[in-house]
Amino acid sequence: MQSCTANTREALSPCTLVIFGASGDLTARKLIPALHGLFCTDSQPRPFQIVGCARTPLNTEAFRDLLLEALTNRGPEPPAGWQKFAQHLAYIPVQYDDAQAFTELAASLRQMDRDHQTQGNRIFYLATPPSLYPVIAAQLGRAGLAAEKTGGNGWVRIVVEKPFGRDLASALELDQVLHQSFHEHQIFRIDHYLAKETVQNILMLRFANTIFEPLWNRGYIDYIGIMAAEQLGVEHRAGYYEQTGILRDMFQNHMQQLLALTAMEPPSLFEAERVRDEKAKCSRSLKPLDRATLAEHLVIGQYGSGAIDGRRVAGYRDEPGVALASRTPTFAMLRLFVDNWRWRDVPFYLISGKRLARKETKIVVQFKRVPHSMFRDMLAERIPANRLTLGIYPDEEIDITFQTKTPGPRVCLRPVRMDFKYNQNDKAPALDAYAKVLLDVIQGDHMLFWRQDGVELAWSFLTPILEECEACGDRAQQLHPYPAGSWGPEAAQEWMRLILNN
Ligand code: NDP
Repeated sequence: MQSCTANTREALSPCTLVIFGASGDLTARKLIPALHGLFCTDSQPRPFQIVGCARTPLNTEAFRDLLLEALTNRGPEPPAGWQKFAQHLAYIPVQYDDAQAFTELAASLRQMDRDHQTQGNRIFYLATPPSLYPVIAAQLGRAGLAAEKTGGNGWVRIVVEKPFGRDLASALELDQVLHQSFHEHQIFRIDHYLAKETVQNILMLRFANTIFEPLWNRGYIDYIGIMAAEQLGVEHRAGYYEQTGILRDMFQNHMQQLLALTAMEPPSLFEAERVRDEKAKCSRSLKPLDRATLAEHLVIGQYGSGAIDGRRVAGYRDEPGVALASRTPTFAMLRLFVDNWRWRDVPFYLISGKRLARKETKIVVQFKRVPHSMFRDMLAERIPANRLTLGIYPDEEIDITFQTKTPGPRVCLRPVRMDFKYNQNDKAPALDAYAKVLLDVIQGDHMLFWRQDGVELAWSFLTPILEECEACGDRAQQLHPYPAGSWGPEAAQEWMRLILNN
């Protein structure tokens, strides 16, 4: 028997989604496919309009053609239902420094409300380079587009893509600008990792079962590994990545969220504020890393040339748009500690990198060995400890290893696996992460979004580390090279083996 929340389809209010940066990569590769997917499964609000805004002078027809081309590139078949979906797409060019353009946008949106009965409900999605987030938020405020009507319809929400700043100071600054026009309940700071089904499942596994939670602590767990490995390199995003690097791109957000879900205390209710309270408490418990001994806890690296699936690939510094002497890290392994009663002295290894041997995201919970082996006279080797693996990509699965007797007359142990594939016994397709976050914004559900205190805590922890990594001269943190297609720098291999080996 399944226990589900009620189907929320009826709860979707009519609305207009305005995407700034609509001529860009995120819109074409993630947002439109997700919205098209919702449309094809009849899961979109009704009525629903999508308005693309960017500087590029396009008309609505050209915008639709651009998106159709992007969708068609994703597979051999033309996208189902495109003609009908495209009717919901419009394009309005804007120059972000032009206040008049936003006044005109406001007039166009009011007209659309009248034409399509979208009832004044609006979502503004910031899919531009982050330097434009404060500019657009201020223009929306000035044009009266941030103000909500009281009660029922006329709600306004703003979705902010990562990165939320590039350090603590800039995150605070961005927040201040957002709050000049928007209230906190209107702001949705996206981390699409959180919307992956298997990531949400971490809380279900931990808190909807009794058998794991009693063991989920320093008494039984030896260490925890959280790995997000990519095979891809920087691709065409060098401009962004050179300013960001792996620590900002992955550790400030996704990795710290996975850590919080794994380590947090149980909230009293599965409700946005309570879940986010517990995550914040967990982030607050992170033991600050001592700058003097940072090298003992952090390995950063940058990929050189190598081979991926038998194909030669360029090193990071040879990628288009990357500086010849770039010190941007494309790999990091961070050992940290959650300094509280539950986790004291249990290392958490956070690993992420580009151009690694394979694309894989998982959380490894390594249990301690048995305290005393009654089989010690018969078995030459020590008994391997249990391991629970939460696979997020490519295999959405949970597996647990344990020891059993090998069949036969001799006393021999063998490790066996018990596994659960996430989609096992369920025909419903998993919801795409961007489709999930878009639906949550439409419903005003903040559960999977960052709260500002969480953002600040994440930056507070990371900013001193970044400062050390970006220091010059003698103080510079060593940047270890690694060949593309490997499992990262030599200096990280001892820890890497802990996570990869079973
Ligand atoms: P793009 O670099 O593709 O930029 C989006 C659009 O912004 C462009 O089409 C362009 O539109 C406009 N733009 C680009 N540079 C400038 C500039 N210097 N000044 C003004 N406008 C500019 O970005 P993405 O679509 O890749 O990403 C958008 C946001 O989403 C970023 O903040 C990124 O960090 C975040 N993000 C992206 C992901 C992805 O997979 N792409 C994943 C997660 C987050 P025009 O010239 O027409 O105005």
